[in-house]
Amino acid sequence: MGDLKNTCFVCKEPITTENSELNTTVNLPVCMKCKGTDTEKKAEKEALDSLADGFVCGCI
Ligand SMILES: [Zn+2]
Repeated sequence: MGDLKNTCFVCKEPITTENSELNTTVNLPVCMKCKGTDTEKKAEKEALDSLADGFVCGCI
């Protein structure tokens, strides 16, 4: 199991602080390859959706 802080949340590649930035929307690190891409946006949304699952009532 990898350390979340050392893994890009988009491509799951190992990263260091030198080649990554923190995505402040989800508070997870993203590598320079994924930064600003559509893939990042998609992963961002999925991360937020999975976070919201615990809080949002599904009984609409
Ligand atoms: Zn990445």
